[in-house]
Amino acid sequence: MARLGFPTTTRRRGKLSRMAGPLPVLVAVDQDALEDVTAQLTQRYGRDYRVEGFGDPTEALRALTELDEDGGEVALVLVGESSAAAGDGKLLEHIRRLHPHAKRALLVSANAWTDDPTADAIRASMALGRIDHYVFRPASSPDEVFHEAVSDFLLEWAREQHLVPQTVHIVGEDWSGRAFELREVFTRCAVPHDFCLADSEKGRTLMATAGPHAELPVMILPDGRVLSDPSDAEIAEAAGAPMDLDEKTYEVVIVGAGPAGLSAAVYAASEGLRVLVVDSGGIGGQAASSSLIRNYLGFGKGVSGSRLAEEAYEQALAFGAAFLFLHRVTALDRSAGWFHLRLSDGRFVSARVVILATGATYRRLGIESLEEHVGAGVFYGGPASEAPALTDKEVYIVGGGNSAGQAALHFARYANRVTMVVRGESLEGGMSHYLIQAIEAAPNVAVFTASTIVGGGGEGRLQHLVLRDRDADEETTVAADALFILIGARPATDWLPADMRRDQHGFLLTGDDLVRDPGWALERAPLSLETSVPGVLAAGDIRHGSVKRVAAAVGEGSIAAQLVHRLFSEEEKAASVGVRVTP
Ligand SMILES: Cc1cc2nc3c(=O)[nH]c(=O)nc-3n(C[C@H](O)[C@H](O)[C@H](O)COP(=O)(O)OP(=O)(O)OC[C@H]3O[C@@H](n4cnc5c(N)ncnc54)[C@H](O)[C@@H]3O)c2cc1C
Repeated sequence: MARLGFPTTTRRRGKLSRMAGPLPVLVAVDQDALEDVTAQLTQRYGRDYRVEGFGDPTEALRALTELDEDGGEVALVLVGESSAAAGDGKLLEHIRRLHPHAKRALLVSANAWTDDPTADAIRASMALGRIDHYVFRPASSPDEVFHEAVSDFLLEWAREQHLVPQTVHIVGEDWSGRAFELREVFTRCAVPHDFCLADSEKGRTLMATAGPHAELPVMILPDGRVLSDPSDAEIAEAAGAPMDLDEKTYEVVIVGAGPAGLSAAVYAASEGLRVLVVDSGGIGGQAASSSLIRNYLGFGKGVSGSRLAEEAYEQALAFGAAFLFLHRVTALDRSAGWFHLRLSDGRFVSARVVILATGATYRRLGIESLEEHVGAGVFYGGPASEAPALTDKEVYIVGGGNSAGQAALHFARYANRVTMVVRGESLEGGMSHYLIQAIEAAPNVAVFTASTIVGGGGEGRLQHLVLRDRDADEETTVAADALFILIGARPATDWLPADMRRDQHGFLLTGDDLVRDPGWALERAPLSLETSVPGVLAAGDIRHGSVKRVAAAVGEGSIAAQLVHRLFSEEEKAASVGVRVTP
């Protein structure tokens, strides 16, 4: 749950958390243990969900089609392995098309991993994006392992559907401008929120709740408070973003609260260091825009970047780390043995050691007519929060890396069609094999290779794009509702001292990169993550040669925290023998 948004003690069920309507449906399709499964589902969830069970896959598909036609909301479908393989073997695919928001799981027996055909079915279904994961059939009543899996799915479903109790509702006149800024702050602070236009049905209902004097954009908080055209400070307060500093000096200041910064905060604070983390937005960095990270150790079902960040943030808070959000660090210098960091509001904080974890941001496309529509159909990164608004729409994604592939698969659950526009000749060079497989298997994802976007625009919102096919030397104008730009990263190092050593792309040199570099001025060798400024460490995507993965950023954050002690002892050693520790 989004702890950054609202402290647990004041949480309560929001009046607007779920619009009144029929109960969402849990569906079980199983030929082997249907009675057990539906009995357990009904006993545990029967009050909030309608449970439907089918022994016959054809009947299940008919009922799911009817539910779709009637506008019924399906939260979870559990399909037994033999039911999934019955008929044309495409039941799970049909379900995905009919109910893109529903979580889908294969229902398997306890010996699934030792039974080769079942193990193969699980792997293939996951790789091809047909299921979110698998669930073991209940073995006893109650079976808490079964319920833990079901509850996890329902929580993810509720988060994606903005049905978690602390959801902030935003109503705007259009998709861009101030309404977009509001959405972006909430996205970056990992606060559950949804957005609708004032002239939509939901917008009108919410505006009626907000009262006659509400001015757009309007924010309706979970406790019912209404904020008209809120200021940055009001937004920060609503997002629960810490904005005050208790102290001005810390043993360690970490710049950036992405995976590397959060990890450094957890490890440094857990070792008793006085730590401040400053971020220009909120938590999660790039990972916050990832709808599903499937390759992070220990999360077999995958985990959304924002959920991972929320858990890490809580962990760091519990160890005593302090946070300051919505503040950019604009300068770094050193005097009298302390580093001084200037914040965007003019204040300074000081630290004995600085860990830079400012990561990277997506390169701009540089097409003016598209830049004008950022927030109104054009997005940098792949914000998962935009997905439900794209149901049945035409979505384009520029980029051929893992993040572009992941975004394509996520949006394919909602969109009519997703088209990837890739500059290279194929996806192979830049994307993991498992994603390429899933993209090939997704019926509504197309890949245009050797292609670029050269123009586009629309009235108030993106409506068309101009694509260029390099091989055919041809330009085509296509209708488009959304464009997501994921075309490689630029390091966030512009604000750092000019003499801090970087590679030709601006990523920071650290450790071994500096051993023979004239920029390194001390006799001792640089520590593994130390930059050319002794006492300043770097972790994660900001580093030259970094792997650009969450796990790598997290690992480096933990190593950086460890190196803080080494720096302290180097300082003490040098002080005792009178050796200079700064250039
Ligand atoms: C859509 C998407 C999907 C991805 N999917 C995966 C995946 O499936 N698996 C995987 O392993 N990796 C994935 N990645 C990559 C992964 O997210 C990054 O490698 C990781 O987030 C890097 O972490 P970081 O902490 O180094 O930097 P970042 O995540 O970039 O965080 C940097 C933070 O620093 C802050 N910041 C920047 N400048 C300043 C400043 N001057 N002052 C204060 N704060 C500042 C930013 O606001 C940001 O919060 C994905 C990335 C994206 C965008």
